[in-house]
Amino acid sequence: MPLITNQDFEGKIKNTCSIKTQIISKLDTYVCGCQSKHSIGWFGGGIIKQTQLYEYVVYCPKGYLTLIKYNFQNLEIQSLSSTKINQKYAALAQMEERPSSYL
Ligand SMILES: [Zn+2]
Repeated sequence: MPLITNQDFEGKIKNTCSIKTQIISKLDTYVCGCQSKHSIGWFGGGIIKQTQLYEYVVYCPKGYLTLIKYNFQNLEIQSLSSTKINQKYAALAQMEERPSSYL
């Protein structure tokens, strides 16, 4: 999975999906930008945004944001791209739409 710049990542996630789907849960695992596979809710992480019907942005407490997509063919979560948040883009991690009530 490619690590991209904060700027590129921001460009990929600017769309906000108006229809909320809850196809995945906090316990589902995904391949994170921090190079490990862990659950979405690992160590206080979670989904901070939904960009498409089955596409989400996940925050990892190690400072990574990963764009994931639910793959209906394999019935698993696919990681599309990831970025390590730098200071200038710290607000990216704070765009949480609906904290806690979401999952
Ligand atoms: Zn991680």
